[in-house]
Amino acid sequence: MEKDNLLDKITALAKRRGFIYPGSEIYGGLANSWDYGPLGVELKNNIKKLWWKRYVHDRDDIVGIDAALIMNTKVWETSGHLDEFVDPLVECEKCHKRFRENQLAEKNCPDCSGLLTAPKQFNLMFKTNLGPIESEENTVYFRPETAQAIFTNFKNILDTTRQTIPFGIAQIGKAFRNEITPGNYIFRTREFEQMEIEYFISQPKSEKEWEKHFEYWEKEMTQWAGDIGIDTSKLHKLDIPQEKLAHYSKKTIDFEFDFPFGREELWGLAYRTDFDLKNHGEKSGENLKYKDIETGEEYYPHVIEPSLGVDRTLLAVMLSAYHKDGDRVIMKFKPELAPYKVAVFPLVKNKPELVKKAKEIFDDLKVKTSAIWDDRGNIGKRYFSQDEIGTPNCITVDYQTLEDNTVTVRDRDSAEQKRVKIEDLNY
Ligand code: ATP
Repeated sequence: MEKDNLLDKITALAKRRGFIYPGSEIYGGLANSWDYGPLGVELKNNIKKLWWKRYVHDRDDIVGIDAALIMNTKVWETSGHLDEFVDPLVECEKCHKRFRENQLAEKNCPDCSGLLTAPKQFNLMFKTNLGPIESEENTVYFRPETAQAIFTNFKNILDTTRQTIPFGIAQIGKAFRNEITPGNYIFRTREFEQMEIEYFISQPKSEKEWEKHFEYWEKEMTQWAGDIGIDTSKLHKLDIPQEKLAHYSKKTIDFEFDFPFGREELWGLAYRTDFDLKNHGEKSGENLKYKDIETGEEYYPHVIEPSLGVDRTLLAVMLSAYHKDGDRVIMKFKPELAPYKVAVFPLVKNKPELVKKAKEIFDDLKVKTSAIWDDRGNIGKRYFSQDEIGTPNCITVDYQTLEDNTVTVRDRDSAEQKRVKIEDLNY
């Protein structure tokens, strides 16, 4: 009960403070679609920026791409998505509601107890038409994952960069899945964002060779979870049993998180072997092999894939950040993730000298960092308000500022205040 409450609290806070709104709300909404508001987009961008910095900018063995959302249908034929990216769907004969069969414990409709039909395979890809004519030849699909565009660009990247094996290609972008049972807020939606890396390694001569890379990424993902403030005591790894592996995978670990609605997948880590490059190479007729410059050996590289959902990451970050201290709600975001790094207040808004000085400080800070101005109500209320959106520091300009050019800087988590010289403010 208490647990369900946490999701309700986060949902309400996110709506009230401008993190996340229901999609198309003025028209009664659109089932399971959500829009990120002014604070939500900052939080989401900060998650993506940190990920990109850590895996692309701070390293020299990973490069990025940003590919088209709609790809040639042959990509999905070859990747196996047209045939294999399906969920078993059952329909209630009485109320016609549809369910994902593998989520149902009972044999009858959970809503009206009606009889369920035999399962049929439902492809999760979103279809549309390229151009004005609706026809089979013009049918295309929105990508259900970002990964395939990395494989199809493999040769381009080899030809245009100086990467040598092992190296990775990273991408952040939208993916679309016509999920049968979306829900649990932003956990499962039909349109979402992914951050994926395909890390290419040489053809392994033994299990140990790929396992070494797999273990590296497993550690790296655990470390990243902690670094962005995800409560790692709620993070669990699930080794997917052989018979449940996706068609392309030889080993997969799901990183699961204790969400208020249960332990569910947050991210995945998969060893995709050379499945994708080999199939695309063979079907397209392009040479997607890698040539080792030293040995001259040509082969299809194998791949380790850390795959992260941006929205699920954001949800886990928000759930982990939520703290309560008496009446005070504090979103204890890591400062790098907080939508605003600093808030600036004049002690009162009807003293022009204070407002002028505070504005000067604000104008200086807002071009250096993400800063917010607030002069409404009393200081206590403004602190409460900033705590609730996770702003790490609040700067107040008071009468003493006018005398000695110092301000108070209040820390979000400890609520302690220090006097700091304006010239020493460092954001
Ligand atoms: P699930 O079992 O929950 O359907 P999956 O195993 O199909 O997920 P992957 O194909 O491994 O998911 O996708 C990689 C990541 O993309 C997931 O770990 C998750 O973070 C995110 N993701 C997948 N589907 C969705 C969705 N419908 N809504 C939001 N995020 C998603």
